[in-house]
Amino acid sequence: MATDVAVYVHVPFCIKRCTYCDFTTFTGMLNLRAAYIEAVLDEIAIWAQRFPTLHANTLYFGGGTPSLLPPSGIAAIIAAVQREFGLPGDAEITLEANPGAIDLTLLSDFHTSGVNRLSLGAQSASEHELEMLGRIHHWNDVVEGVRAARTAGFDNVSLDLIFGLPGQTLNWWWETLRRTLDLTPEHLSLYALTLEPGAPLAENVALGKLPEPDPDLAAEMYETASELLKSAGFWQYEISNGAQGTTPPPEIWALPPGGQTEQIGPWVSQHNLSYWRNTGWLGLGVGAHSFLFEERWSNLPHPVSYISAIHSHRPYRISEELITREIDMAETMMMGLRLAEGVTEERFDRRFGVPIRESYGQTIQKFEGLELLEHQSGTVRLTPKGRLLGNQVFAGFLL
Ligand code: SF4
Repeated sequence: MATDVAVYVHVPFCIKRCTYCDFTTFTGMLNLRAAYIEAVLDEIAIWAQRFPTLHANTLYFGGGTPSLLPPSGIAAIIAAVQREFGLPGDAEITLEANPGAIDLTLLSDFHTSGVNRLSLGAQSASEHELEMLGRIHHWNDVVEGVRAARTAGFDNVSLDLIFGLPGQTLNWWWETLRRTLDLTPEHLSLYALTLEPGAPLAENVALGKLPEPDPDLAAEMYETASELLKSAGFWQYEISNGAQGTTPPPEIWALPPGGQTEQIGPWVSQHNLSYWRNTGWLGLGVGAHSFLFEERWSNLPHPVSYISAIHSHRPYRISEELITREIDMAETMMMGLRLAEGVTEERFDRRFGVPIRESYGQTIQKFEGLELLEHQSGTVRLTPKGRLLGNQVFAGFLL
């Protein structure tokens, strides 16, 4: 029987490190790109040989900056995933791109190579904020990038934005959202800034060179975004993600009880649904994480050690961890509750052979009492109020 997986390929190269970034990415290593593509192709072959039943549903190139790989390399990886893991011809294939390093020719070549969903790291429409974040692009690059993506044939474009920045005003956040919606993307991801220890942005805040971000203001920004997205026809199907729907959303946090994310329309992120539903995924490349066959692991975190290990047939997997049934159940609840659809009784029961209420009856009852969770029509999900206090609820399931 085939084992369905979402395949993720990590591309650990960037032109310059942004001031807030703690992702696994490296600058000054673009000369390794050809060897890296070869290593990823070898890793695909290793997995295909070890587990011939793996079947890919989606493919996602994340980073780092995947658009720094040549389209021929992206095409070779897509072809290998199709050949070895049976990725269907119409499967969602996403590529993250930096608006500061793309043009029409490059995007056309990516589209021809099989990429059918483009995710652009727009982040902000404010030049001041882009500079503070250390981004290499200007807002006009985002505008031109979306235009070029449409000309290149992309009908599925997602934009990433970041909020809760030091000194960011509600007015400028609103302006960023307004200008972003003017570009009519099919999908939006909105992330609250995390001050990562050691990142220059966090250090500047700690040294008092930048103001401390205000969490209450960030919460207000989140709510403003939700309202604006809804009025622009976006369904907020996950806490940080919205997609255009085939019909307008009735409410901000709205799916009919028992409704499934797919009903919203074709622009929800199919790949990320696998993470939120906590089904299996296979991460390829430097630092990539995988969750498969009751095990979780990550790959070596440096391009040189990863390439060298793959080429010399040495172990390249680290931090291997057995996922017990209890951890799996708790994580399925935590991740699933991020979705407006919540966790369905039917899916939980089919996977774990036990009703949700039997495992989490007390926890659900407690959060129902606080009006943070609701359990109806065979679904446990966050209430609109719970959506704003998600972390509190998730922690309850982890305990
Ligand atoms: S482009 Fe993305 S991955 Fe690269 S440094 Fe900036 S935030 Fe990090």
